[in-house]
Amino acid sequence: MTKESEQSKSTDPKYPYRSEKLLPREERVVRFLETLQEVLGAKIYNLPLETYLGTCAKCNNCAEQCQVYQASRDPHDLPAWRSDLLRKVYKKYFTTSGKLFGGLVGAKALTEEDIDNMVDAFYRCTMCRRCGVNCPLAVDNALITRIGRVILERLGFVPSNMTVSTRAQLGEIGNTSAIPKAAFIDTLDFLEEELRDETGIAIPIPRDVEGAQFFFAAPVSDYIMEADTLLGIAKTFHAAGANWTVSTENFDAINYGLFYSDADLEKILNRLLEAAHSLKCKTIVIGECGHSTKTALLFQKVFGLSEYRGMEIKSVIEVSHRFFAEGKLMFDPTKNPETVTYHDPCNLGRGSGIYEQPRELLKAAVMHFVEMTPNRKMNYCCGGGGGLVVVEDLHDWRMSTAGLKKVEQLRATGAKLVCAPCANCKKQLRELIQAHKLDMQLVGLHDLLGKAIVLSGKT
Ligand code: SF4
Ligand code: SF4
Repeated sequence: MTKESEQSKSTDPKYPYRSEKLLPREERVVRFLETLQEVLGAKIYNLPLETYLGTCAKCNNCAEQCQVYQASRDPHDLPAWRSDLLRKVYKKYFTTSGKLFGGLVGAKALTEEDIDNMVDAFYRCTMCRRCGVNCPLAVDNALITRIGRVILERLGFVPSNMTVSTRAQLGEIGNTSAIPKAAFIDTLDFLEEELRDETGIAIPIPRDVEGAQFFFAAPVSDYIMEADTLLGIAKTFHAAGANWTVSTENFDAINYGLFYSDADLEKILNRLLEAAHSLKCKTIVIGECGHSTKTALLFQKVFGLSEYRGMEIKSVIEVSHRFFAEGKLMFDPTKNPETVTYHDPCNLGRGSGIYEQPRELLKAAVMHFVEMTPNRKMNYCCGGGGGLVVVEDLHDWRMSTAGLKKVEQLRATGAKLVCAPCANCKKQLRELIQAHKLDMQLVGLHDLLGKAIVLSGKT
């Protein structure tokens, strides 16, 4: 054995993905296999996972769909290569042919080095699901990435800022940015003042209203970074005459569990559902955020949280679009004279099927709209999906590799504004615009709607 390989057997690579619960190297293989068995036994996963792990034609159609591989041309970024890391292990330990014929059928015994490779690989996939669109076997590589991360978390491999944020959210403080309740209420007061100063109208942001129809929860980062989005949403509810509320106890829609843990995902989702339930609200409205929307829409069904049955979950985009379709919103597009393009957030588009509503709203509220190419289900990820936007160690990689395709797309539009109704996409796109010196700005959808909305004769 060479000195190098001896070292690789005993030393961890320098990952930014270690939690304080990281298992010693020699315990990881056993824990990995135990967790994989547990995941395969879970009712929600066994069928899709067995299908995706059992099948791959090795045609590499997915390679040319992946923005990471297109930028890096590194074979370790091939979607099928990444998924095969887990597939080989699955075949070796969980299929008869793999147990009998091993490498002949693509099976391989798991080693500590394989786990090292998985940590790297599963955190270089943005879980955007673009690669699945043209897969002849409909393999969902993003689900395999997610399951890989769920298993790795149980070994202690997970970006620490995700777990720190989740701990704050599930603890007494109740949100990922650790904003105290008093500070949150101050922020709501400030936003109301802004609304009054800007419009001359008293537009309330109602708090803890029992029986309100709409329970609104935004990603908490919006209260720090995206005031214009929140102002636009408040104006939209007001113009539509909607009965809505925020909770001052549970106001954060972020759910990082989507990126690494079913257990945390379910706890966070339960808190949100319980908050709306306890206020007797009928519809939970998730703010401009792709992963929060998909998590609430999809996993409420997946986990079968039956006590909350009857409660509707919607994206704020769907709700605003419904108001618009019902004739409750009017816009003056001259307030938005710049050329605007639209970025389909992966979790809203491919993840939740929300494609046309934002476009119809934009076309009514801005003077010039141009499509990005490709768009809708073939749109490219911003490069910060799968939670990678919050991993600061990946910043340079997000700018130089994962987001490169998006930069090309943005530049080709010639637009002055790119609209992205997702907190994660907003952060990544702002950073891309700055890093690549693009002559454009990032805006939220409701930022534009709020500028153009006609309020009681005022605009
Ligand atoms: S396109 Fe589908 S079948 Fe072909 S290599 Fe990729 S995952 Fe496998
Ligand atoms: S999910 Fe997205 S980032 Fe991951 S392999 Fe597929 S196309 Fe690439």
